[in-house]
Amino acid sequence: MSALDDLPIRDDLRGAEPYGAPQLIVPVVLNVNENPYPPSEALRREMAEAVVRTGATMNRYPDREATGLRSALANYLGHGLAVNNIWAANGSNEVMTHLLTAFGGPGRSVLTFTPTYSMYPEYARNTFTRYVTVPREPDFTIDAARALEAIDRHRPTLVLVTTPNNPTGTSTPLEVIDRLCSATDAIVVVDEAYQEFSRGPSALELLRHHPRLVVTRTMSKAFALAGGRVGYLAADPAIVDACRIVRLPYHLSSQTQALAEVALRHADELLAKVRDLAAETRAFQEWLVDRGYDVVPSDANFVCFGTFPDRHAVWQALLDRGILIRETGPEGHLRASAGTPQDMAALRTALDEIDPLQKQETQ
Ligand SMILES: *Cc1c(COP(=O)(O)O)cnc(C)c1O
Repeated sequence: MSALDDLPIRDDLRGAEPYGAPQLIVPVVLNVNENPYPPSEALRREMAEAVVRTGATMNRYPDREATGLRSALANYLGHGLAVNNIWAANGSNEVMTHLLTAFGGPGRSVLTFTPTYSMYPEYARNTFTRYVTVPREPDFTIDAARALEAIDRHRPTLVLVTTPNNPTGTSTPLEVIDRLCSATDAIVVVDEAYQEFSRGPSALELLRHHPRLVVTRTMSKAFALAGGRVGYLAADPAIVDACRIVRLPYHLSSQTQALAEVALRHADELLAKVRDLAAETRAFQEWLVDRGYDVVPSDANFVCFGTFPDRHAVWQALLDRGILIRETGPEGHLRASAGTPQDMAALRTALDEIDPLQKQETQ
């Protein structure tokens, strides 16, 4: 066996570590913003039957264009969108990689607003796209004037706005997105991974005014289909055509397409808990404020809170009690996803237990 460093790995990958949140088996899992409710027995059966049917043509490649799935997604989104406005891939992370591959690359840059999703810099690196960041305001919103000035200075070919933002949960008003789109020739990608949890309007409303606007979504969060690996975008058909050029051949397996189509037929059931989870998020925020924590107002299904002198110690103390949350976000903060009422009760109890030891020793 040779050491990784002995291999002719790309110079810019030397010393890099595979990124990802710890996957631990514990009773309360609140670290990656999943929907905590699995599909019903009936829906599971229907998914299994759909997969069995794909077995009859397993010797053949799947539909390269995923036409059935993309029309079901268009139908779900509404807004007058059709199949040629939609692109789908293995998670919205793969969709993002397609966009960076098609519109980024050597000598080009993608501009985004930090703190934000920790995977973006990796996709930029993998596609040789320069990653340019503009800090968000102290309340984690985006100041349109500062954003425009940065776009003017860096001339990115892609601008990436995450709303609600991960890890802060902050929404960006449509007026800001509209201003950015009007002021740049860049492709403006709005990552709406958590949009279904938000009470604000979707950037889908702006699509018909801005042919270079792209809205990405995922079935991993609200839709409770993280294991299925399906993400998608809505945009002008020319942008979909660009993604079709750079995708790997037959990138979406027939099982993935079949599972996602079943899920979309039962969107009502799968999305039924979204309101509850949003309410759970709000209740947890109020509880945290009551206890004297700093809480970033969230429009998503997670909460970023602090301020801990030693956040790792708090994360570990929770894990010792069987609760896994995420060590991410601004300095001194942790992020917890909304779980079932039982999950949240366990988290509150545990925080109260460790509070005197770890919380806000600074005055
Ligand atoms: C979870 C998440 C995604 C979704 O990733 P998938 O690959 O679709 O599972 C995308 N963007 C953000 C900001 C996320 O937090």
